[in-house]
Amino acid sequence: GRQLPKPDRPRTVVIANQKGGVGKTTTAVNLAAALALGGLEVLLIDLDPQGNASTALGVDHHSGVGGTYEVLIDGDPISRHVVASPEAPHLHVLPATIDLAGAEIELVSIASRENRLKQALTAYREQNAVDYVILDCPPSLGLLTVNALVAAEEILIPIQCEYYALEGVSQLMRTIEMVKGGLNNRLRLSTIVLTMFDGRTRLASQVADEVRAHFPRETLPTLIPRSVRISEAPSYGQTVLSYQPSSVGAIAYLNAAADIAARGAEGAY
Ligand code: ADP
Ligand code: MG
Repeated sequence: GRQLPKPDRPRTVVIANQKGGVGKTTTAVNLAAALALGGLEVLLIDLDPQGNASTALGVDHHSGVGGTYEVLIDGDPISRHVVASPEAPHLHVLPATIDLAGAEIELVSIASRENRLKQALTAYREQNAVDYVILDCPPSLGLLTVNALVAAEEILIPIQCEYYALEGVSQLMRTIEMVKGGLNNRLRLSTIVLTMFDGRTRLASQVADEVRAHFPRETLPTLIPRSVRISEAPSYGQTVLSYQPSSVGAIAYLNAAADIAARGAEGAY
């Protein structure tokens, strides 16, 4: 891969959208791998009990494997459970197991429940070189997602190019404003990625135009096309970057990562 510029300060990017199936995990794993292939130190934290990001990055996450659950609930250091992904050098993963499904409830009675991930990440960054932390969220606005929003400085929202694309985004924006107002005033929406774009339909172009009109600064110039290769890759425990490196989907994610690295944390060129 081509070398990408190192950020001035480590960047922590939360991939959030409480709608399921919009391409959060696909975007998280492919951007993480693309940034790592660009020579950057990347840590992906899987916050979804389904563990789809762990799967796509070729990382074991059967019940009993230590990961995000132990960090949030037991207060384990991240470094104890981080594993290297075979997808790229410099790419590390904190896996999620199905145990994490219970964390949403267990966190409620834990002190500073919204700050658990932030505390663990601060400690990790003091000991480990890291350029990007990518946080893959579950499809809800519960305490797991709130922990990610508190730990991050940037939000990346994937939006699927289909009917009702913006539905739910205003609710997400309200949650972001709430977190900014209380728990994390550094948080900002830096990036919107348009996913599953099908250039043959007028609808997809209309949705893309509508999103750009709402978020002219934040929307990345690179569109992620709908592609069978992208959807097949996880069943091989791979990202599309290693599964089909010259496919249009792989190239789109490499370009999106280059866009993000070039724009910097402020979210615009
Ligand atoms: P989320 O994490 O938001 O629930 P996923 O990334 O898991 O969404 O994507 C939902 C489904 O759509 C998955 O089966 C995934 O493989 C598929 N998918 C994601 N992006 C694309 C794409 N660009 N082209 C085709 N299929 C995609
Ligand atoms: Mg997901």
